This record gives sequence, C-alpha cells and structure tokens, in this order.
Amino acid sequence: MTAQGSHAASTTDVPRRNWAGNVRYAAKAFHRPTSVDELRRLVAGSSRIRAVGSGHSFNRIGDTDGDLVSLAGLPPVVEVDHERGQVTVSGALRYGDVARQLHTQGCALANLASLPHISVAGAVATATHGSGQTHGNLASAVAGLELVTADGDLLRVDRDTDTFAGMVVGLGALGLVTRVTVDVVPTFALRQYVRLDLDRTALDEALGSAYSVSVFTDFREPRLREVWRKQLADQPPPPADWLGTTAADQPRHPVLGMPAENCTPQLGEPGPWHERLPHFKLGFTPSSGDELQSEYHVARTAAADALAALDDLADLIAPVLLVSELRTVAADELWLSPNYRRDSFVLHFTWVDDTAAVLPVVAAVEERLAPFSPRPHWGKVFVTDPAELSARYPRYADFAALLADLDPKGTFRTDALDRYFPR
Ligand SMILES: Cc1cc2nc3c(=O)[nH]c(=O)nc-3n(C[C@H](O)[C@H](O)[C@H](O)COP(=O)(O)OP(=O)(O)OC[C@H]3O[C@@H](n4cnc5c(N)ncnc54)[C@H](O)[C@@H]3O)c2cc1C
Repeated sequence: MTAQGSHAASTTDVPRRNWAGNVRYAAKAFHRPTSVDELRRLVAGSSRIRAVGSGHSFNRIGDTDGDLVSLAGLPPVVEVDHERGQVTVSGALRYGDVARQLHTQGCALANLASLPHISVAGAVATATHGSGQTHGNLASAVAGLELVTADGDLLRVDRDTDTFAGMVVGLGALGLVTRVTVDVVPTFALRQYVRLDLDRTALDEALGSAYSVSVFTDFREPRLREVWRKQLADQPPPPADWLGTTAADQPRHPVLGMPAENCTPQLGEPGPWHERLPHFKLGFTPSSGDELQSEYHVARTAAADALAALDDLADLIAPVLLVSELRTVAADELWLSPNYRRDSFVLHFTWVDDTAAVLPVVAAVEERLAPFSPRPHWGKVFVTDPAELSARYPRYADFAALLADLDPKGTFRTDALDRYFPR
C-alpha cells in the first residue's frame, strides 16, 4: 500500500533551526526535492550536503555549511510485506504516521521512542530508543535501507550485506536514506499505569516489571518520583502496594507541574501500542521546545552504581534539570549503537534551555559516569572527548573505514563528524 499525502516542493518547509532552537542550521542552501531522481542529481552536484529529518536532535551532528536537504517532499510510502513481517517506509515519515497505518493493517513496531513526531531515518541514524529490557533500540529493528550515496547512486543494503551492521546507525554520514525496511510484529494493546515514589533499591525490579518501563526523577529526592509502566493489556494491574509505591490518581506529565493533556492515556485505560508506548500524543506538540537533552547508556548491571555516582552532584544537577528519565535497552550488533553488545541502563536528562549553564553540568555528569564507559546519545548534548568516545565503541575504527570507503570526498562530512572521525 502506498500512503497518500501532500509533498509540496517548497524549500520554506525545510527547517532553518532544530526543534529546541539551540542550533541554527548553517547551510548555504535548503532543498526539498520531490523525486528520488531529483535528489540523486542534487547529491551528485553538491560538494557538501546533509539530510535533515524532523530536526529533533540537540547538537550539530547533522548541520552543514553546504546544502541541507529535507526528504519530506518525496512520495510517502508505507508498504507492508505480511509474509516477511516487514514494512518499507519513506525515511522522512514520522514514526507516529507510520504507526497509525501499520495498526490499521494489523501490524505493530516492537517499540517506539517517547515522541512520535520524529522521522524514521533521523531516529534510526542516531540509534533512538524507547524502553524495555527485551527491546532493542529503533535501529535494531531495521532490516534494510535504500540510500543515495555520495556520487548520486541509489544503493540498497539489507541484513545480508557485509557492512550492514555499520550502516544502520550511520549518523547521516554514509548517504541520504530514502527508504527504511523495518521488522513488524502483530498489533497489540497496552495499558499505562503511573506509580509514585519508588525506593531506589527496587529500581531494577521496576524496570523489568512490564513491557516498557520508564522511571522519572529530578535529583531533588533520594527516592524516584514516578514509574511509568506500559504493560500488555491482558496482564493484571500492579497490586495496590506494588514495590512500596502508590498509584497516581490522575494523569501525569513527566515534568512536574506541566499539564498532562499532551500525554498518552494513563490510569490503566487500554489502547493500541502506538498510543501508549510514546509518552506524548502525536496530535499535540509535546512542549515549547524550551529544553535541551543529554543521555548516557551504561551496562544494565551498573545501573545502581551509575545512579549512585551522581548522588553528590545532585545540588549541581537539580537547578538546571527539568526531569531525568531512566530506561533500559537490549543489546544489539550495530557498530555505532550505544547498545552495541551491551544490555543497557540509560540515564536521560531534560535540561533547561540555557546552554551556558548546562554544559558545565554535562561535563561533571560525564566525569562521574566515566568509570562506567558511558556511550552518549548521538543526537543529544554531550562533550565527550573523541579519543575517549572511540575507546567505548569496539567497532569505531571499522565505521571510520566505512566512512572513508563510501564517502571518500567527504560529501556528507560535517564539522562534528570531522571532530569525532578525523580524516
Ligand atoms: C522532545 C524530544 C523527545 C525525544 N525522545 C527521545 C527518546 O525517547 N529516545 C531517544 O533515543 N531519543 C529521543 N529524542 C532524540 C531524537 O529521537 C533524535 O535526536 C533523532 O535523531 C531525531 O530524529 P529527527 O528526524 O528529528 O533527526 P534530525 O535531528 O533531523 O537528524 C538527526 C541525524 O539524522 C540524519 N538524518 C536525518 N534524516 C536523514 C536521512 N533521510 N538520511 C540520512 N540521514 C538522515 C541527520 O543528518 C542528522 O545527522 C527526543 C528528542 C526530542 C526533541
């Protein structure tokens, strides 16, 4: 099935800045081609070009001083192959839009991020993830890619391709991804319950207690403020005294004091997977964008120690923090995935929108987490030294070689990429 939708060619639709507003794209020209052939000609004729997805990254990983291209003008495609259990979608589509169409065809994605507004190709390129001890990140479900390479050729790769595991979390640096093929599962229903005031000693048990679990804290109290349990709809609700917590009696927003109307239904109301796995509804803008985010993946077995390592930074963290989210992600084989061969515990920080105030705190957090070999989210704010980062990824050098092979002239290079993968 081919999705219908508008794909007008106006370059004014290409974002000039990221969602958070902390990055104004430095491109000299913005493009929105309406066909793959037009995109191929554009790439072949450009010396420096990058794709922008929905602009939800918080750093300059995708910024360029050359051409910035949105693929949102390409014909939108959602093609389900029921026999293979896969769907092929246009890279620029938002997960939320793909999910709605999948659900009507009896299919689901195993997991989703907290926000349904992000593009598939952009999310996959940075190894975006949800939560769940048995679920990999969104990139780990990718079975194939179609991309325009530096010379303008159209390349199709899949799990049988030698370097596939290096190409999926590609940071947008290996080519412009036009289509993504993703594994699907039969559609399913979930219920979301919010529980309050978790003792830290029960963190691991709480995180493993349901299909997808997020724990929220603000580093103001030693106890953890909220547990968001997204559990299969046919499972019994948590008992009244579950892990010593109490049940929230009204819907919550992850940030204390923010209205919950933009959040997906809670209080145990059953609903389809795509209306429970994200924290935020597709039809609403999740917040004003007045925030920055950072996130670090460590081994799941180090969860309690990593959290404890930040304890005496609480007075530093709390004043610039809106909320912190703790999640889990299963290990995978993707070279630049923060979950490469490591079941992970993930510490996320939503900061206030003040780069100058936040950066020193980010540096302090990274220093404390360093013994746990933290792998930062590629699309969020981090200050990790490139040499240290490379030591945390066993296949880092292989990715650098792939970059040199697929993009010898540096067509997709950015300043950030040059810093992390020097030529
Ligand atoms: C409110 C909010 C909530 C978030 N929640 C989560 C979460 O729950 N979990 C999580 O892991 N992350 C989360 N993120 C981070 C977000 O998922 C990532 O930053 C993701 O990369 C955003 O996708 P995007 O389409 O906006 O990508 P962009 O920011 O537009 O681009 C990211 C990278 O992908 C590349 N790219 C984009 N499109 C293509 C393409 N077609 N071909 C090749 N390269 C491409 C770009 O060049 C760039 O390098 C959140 C961000 C926000 C703002």
